[in-house]
Amino acid sequence: MKRIYLDHNATTSVHPEVLDAMLPFLKEDFGNPSSIHWAGRNPKKAIDKAREQVAYLFNCDVSEIIFTSCGSEGDNLAIKGTVEAKKDKGSHIITTKVEHPAVLNTCKYLEKTGFEVTYLDVDSYGMIDIEQVKSSITPKTILISIMFANNETGVIFPVEEIGKIAKGRNIVFHTDAVQAAGKIPFNVKKLNIDIAVISGHKLYAPKGIGATYLKRGVRLTPLIHGGHHERNRRAGTENVAGIAAIGKACEIAVRDMKDESERLAVLRDRLHKGLAEKIPHVKLNGHPEKRLPNTLNLSFEFVEGESLLLNLDMKGVAASSGSACTSGSLEPSHVLVAMGIPHEVSHGSLRFSLGKDNTAEDIDYVIDVLPPIVERMRSMSPLYEASTGKAANISFAADNCKH
Ligand SMILES: *Cc1c(COP(=O)(O)O)cnc(C)c1O
Repeated sequence: MKRIYLDHNATTSVHPEVLDAMLPFLKEDFGNPSSIHWAGRNPKKAIDKAREQVAYLFNCDVSEIIFTSCGSEGDNLAIKGTVEAKKDKGSHIITTKVEHPAVLNTCKYLEKTGFEVTYLDVDSYGMIDIEQVKSSITPKTILISIMFANNETGVIFPVEEIGKIAKGRNIVFHTDAVQAAGKIPFNVKKLNIDIAVISGHKLYAPKGIGATYLKRGVRLTPLIHGGHHERNRRAGTENVAGIAAIGKACEIAVRDMKDESERLAVLRDRLHKGLAEKIPHVKLNGHPEKRLPNTLNLSFEFVEGESLLLNLDMKGVAASSGSACTSGSLEPSHVLVAMGIPHEVSHGSLRFSLGKDNTAEDIDYVIDVLPPIVERMRSMSPLYEASTGKAANISFAADNCKH
């Protein structure tokens, strides 16, 4: 069976060069990088090198990189670490309704402990309004946490403007750059970012490794106390293989980004156009331009995203849907809900996220197999018939999953 992977925003494969870079530290170079004897030397050197490679992607100094276990840890460190360090200055956080759960649920947790959080709205494109960022600031605001690019729609936020605002008011600005890293270039200094978070497995390194940029001088209380690793900012014996991997992945990302992004944008648009030509009632979720080059989120009205996914899976195509059918309840994606997309439309959404191994043949295959699936599902859908006037009075709840 064909295997076409179009779910790179969920995770990526490990790049062969990345695998090569990490293997020695799972074999002969097993030493503890803190050891001063021979066994510690190569691991220590590997960490130093990786720190340079990651710093190069961020455009920052090596001393400003903290290795973490994942993107979620980076977001937790940024948010909890900042409010803990600054709680004498205020108790207000500004974020958005469309953040990754690593940010949203951290903020929700902090609300229970007495912090106040403003969750900014987005418009129908999934874009925030910079005026709302400004008007939400109070004398108590200590942190603005707004993602660089959204994982579901690929929408890219006006990080430069936010950085200027935060800097002018002396508020810490954290951005979850997990989806931006490796897809679009950024310079944390030019953008006035104080804390930026990336994750290895979203850019061709393995799962379980992340990196956080922390601007020199910005105070942060560590989450994990222990030894003096990472300049006392994150204790724990370093994941040397993972660190070597994310270093190599960042080096490759910087090297290949321009060509690869252009290539993926062409493939993505080919997919969009091909599907929209063959399938009626297809809607783009997200901003048409301010969007990651690899991400395409579409709604196929009158069908159910989960069933689409299962049918695509049977054809060997891996994608993602805008809802998760868990424990009998079909929750539409919080991102699509925040965009004001009606539930019945967001239920029929699919996210295609492209990556390095995708070819034009892959895309054409999807353009071939998906339209008949949608057509078949619509032909069985009372809703679709209702919309075309053949039947009436049937509500959306008729699907497999209960609301
Ligand atoms: C995947 C992802 C994370 C979490 O990263 P993990 O390494 O899986 O913990 C955070 N933010 C965004 C935007 C993501 O896409």
